[in-house]
Amino acid sequence: IMQLYTPLNWFGTYYRMIQQNFIDMENMFDLLNEKQEVIDKKGAQELLVPRGRIVFKNVSFSYTPERPILNNVSFIVEPGKTIAVVGPTGSGKSTIMRLLFRFYDINKGSISVDDINIKDYTQKSLRQAIGVVPQDTVLFNESIFYNIRYGRVTATDEEVKDAARNADIHDKIVTFPDQYDTKVGERGLKLSGGEKQRVAIARTLLKNPTFILLDEATSALDTQTERNIQTALQKVCADRTVLVVAHRLSTIIHADTILVLKDGMIIERGRHEELIAIDGVYSNMWRQQLEANNNSSDNDQPSDQN
Ligand code: ATP
Repeated sequence: IMQLYTPLNWFGTYYRMIQQNFIDMENMFDLLNEKQEVIDKKGAQELLVPRGRIVFKNVSFSYTPERPILNNVSFIVEPGKTIAVVGPTGSGKSTIMRLLFRFYDINKGSISVDDINIKDYTQKSLRQAIGVVPQDTVLFNESIFYNIRYGRVTATDEEVKDAARNADIHDKIVTFPDQYDTKVGERGLKLSGGEKQRVAIARTLLKNPTFILLDEATSALDTQTERNIQTALQKVCADRTVLVVAHRLSTIIHADTILVLKDGMIIERGRHEELIAIDGVYSNMWRQQLEANNNSSDNDQPSDQN
């Protein structure tokens, strides 16, 4: 997909696609490191051995001046803890992730990692410390080996297979015609949503980042696939600092903190039980999901099939 000779607006288009869909492509930034919207400051330092602390302090942000998106957002995630962000569509959940990845600079407030403003780090080292499991993973028209190894290009075949096992996709891969050499992507074998997600998890396991940004898939998966993915996610998230944008509340009942975002503001925060106890917006969302689940429990759609 790296056709450097295509027209000038190619870069702009792809840059926005990356920002928007949160494709974890720091290597692509290397190739195209001109014309970035965010620039390293002079003498920026390397984030070499991250501990894993995130602090958002009074963060306000807008993509365009006339429309504020985040308004005075503050939260702390301690190393190894999981914070979940929930809220209606358009409330700014993914924006929080994009800002931590520093796709954009903020207008007011500060974002720091290990108590240093992320603007003081090189973007490369900051992004190296962050693994992203996006909603929809982009696969290259290459072998499955290549696609997983993308998480750490120096990984050995055995390491790639280990990551695939831990992401619960190995058993599937060995059923492909050429196993790990099978070409996937648009022009190869098409993987299902659940399989692509496990490729993303395998990549992230190889990358071994301190921070994980997890954009939970909205698409419904069948119960078994969902379970496999949850198990794989638990492995990849263990002992790391995790920021998850959650759509199904059932997946975040064990989060250390849940933030409820509405119109760019945090309107409730706490653990699941605490938010249920205050009987506000979150507990309302919870009731609605329980009802929706009850209504659809007898039509599990098997969507992880080829
Ligand atoms: P969803 O649950 O639907 O994914 P979200 O809570 O993650 O929504 P964001 O993606 O953070 O919402 O978007 C917040 C708001 O910012 C939305 O109204 C969106 O239209 C707007 N927005 C997002 N990206 C841009 C952009 N590049 N330029 C202008 N506005 C944007």
